[in-house]
Amino acid sequence: MNVIPHWLEKQHELQPEATAIEYGEHLSLSYSALREESRKLAKGLIKEGVKTGDHVALLSGNRIEFPICIHALSYIGAVAVCLNTRLTPEELAYQLNDAEVSALIVDPNLVEKAHRTIEEVLLGHDDLIYMNHLPTCNESIELKEQLYLEEVFTMMYTSGTTGKPKAVMHTYGNHWFSAVGSALNLGLSQSDKWLICLPMFHVGGFSLLMKNVIYGMPIRLLSHFDAQVINDEIRYRGVTIVSVVTVMLQRLILDLQQEDYPSSFRCMLLGGGPVPRPLLERASKKDIPVFQTYGMTETSSQIATLSPVDAFRKLGSAGKALAPATLKVIADGRTAAAYETGEIHVKGPMVSGGYYKKAGNDSEYLATGDAGYLDDEGFLYVVDRVKDMIISGGENIYPAEIESVIMGLAGVEEVGVTGTADEEWGEVPVAFVVLQAGADLSLEEMTTYCRQYLASYKIPKRLFIISELPRNASNKIVRRKLFECMERDVY
Ligand code: ATP
Ligand code: MG
Repeated sequence: MNVIPHWLEKQHELQPEATAIEYGEHLSLSYSALREESRKLAKGLIKEGVKTGDHVALLSGNRIEFPICIHALSYIGAVAVCLNTRLTPEELAYQLNDAEVSALIVDPNLVEKAHRTIEEVLLGHDDLIYMNHLPTCNESIELKEQLYLEEVFTMMYTSGTTGKPKAVMHTYGNHWFSAVGSALNLGLSQSDKWLICLPMFHVGGFSLLMKNVIYGMPIRLLSHFDAQVINDEIRYRGVTIVSVVTVMLQRLILDLQQEDYPSSFRCMLLGGGPVPRPLLERASKKDIPVFQTYGMTETSSQIATLSPVDAFRKLGSAGKALAPATLKVIADGRTAAAYETGEIHVKGPMVSGGYYKKAGNDSEYLATGDAGYLDDEGFLYVVDRVKDMIISGGENIYPAEIESVIMGLAGVEEVGVTGTADEEWGEVPVAFVVLQAGADLSLEEMTTYCRQYLASYKIPKRLFIISELPRNASNKIVRRKLFECMERDVY
């Protein structure tokens, strides 16, 4: 088994007094303080009965106790099951049962939800551990000093965009290689400070906790997304990198009216879902250093990223696979030609070995369920989900392409496209649009606009104006639920 020194022990040895995490108005923890807190908690949890190999869930927003709990579990060798705080008690109960959790650590703001959740599972009130009363212990109890790369460290559920969420198992090695692969691509500077505004219970946010201890790079922790606060953090507080998803970038740009970002701000890492082209163009006009990335829970965050040198030449691409990873596109059972769309397959040491209690992934590559193509220089373009593809009169249509076009129409706040049965064509695309306040849109206007950019079979045949798109707890559009939220058929 490959083994490395416990990463927090290592940082404590290398730079004990350096700042590890900044949080709140003016609070921070050094590496030695983070280690101390994590070790005290680890011993407290052991006293409470938590053992090596136990599955311990965390139901928590972005607060300083989150990383402390995570590291404490690693000192015990317990598995951290990260729960999405926006799930309902029923959804949480499903995950707690499915993941065979034996204790639940809960954020003080989520206690009521936790109580409603445990009524549905095999946990008692004794199995709840409150973050505002974490058990601590200073006795000499032996803790892990090394990390075995093949051992499972975390379990995180996929977002449930295409079906029921699946519990992805990540080993220490998956997280290690994810962090190292990212650094080899983005580079690492002594002055780097990475801002976390993504939830830490998702792999995108969580991966920053890993970079924090693997690189020895300070992170700044924000409890939630607030465009104005983040823009100020970038301008005045020395943040050099921020990870965001599409909606966040949209809001940051809206808020960025007068002053641009300082040149020390070097990377806006954008991932998690499709990005409408008009947004990338707006970001490029504002000189925002957007790096598009592609990844999923199964790949422990990014697996492909567009390097800075190519950022503007390849607008819309997710770049190339990180140094330790490989990707290929398969169409009709063979490697696709340049520009030919097929399913993206990935391989690398950051790719999870499988889902909990499901048969492992024994093929060499992981089939991602995402459609994409490589251009003639090998740059990846993610097209859409394979499952969401619409087949109309024998032609393949990807909703994301149509959504990206409609997003460019004045007055459109957001849009979701899906297919509906059609006697003549088998299936045709239809659009669900949320309008900005006071705006209006007719099917005819939309059709005329789309004609400039889309072949006629891709133009939505119907338009539904709705007040809100169906989104899951990760804020992703769930296209299979679009028809359920229909209110006014404008057609
Ligand atoms: P589920 O697997 O349960 O259906 P999910 O796939 O949405 O949910 P996540 O692991 O959170 O769960 O999301 C990963 C997915 O996000 C990818 O498979 C891909 O579809 C999408 N995605 C990530 N990055 C990009 C990108 N740059 N462009 C387009 N889509 C992306
Ligand atoms: Mg998925």
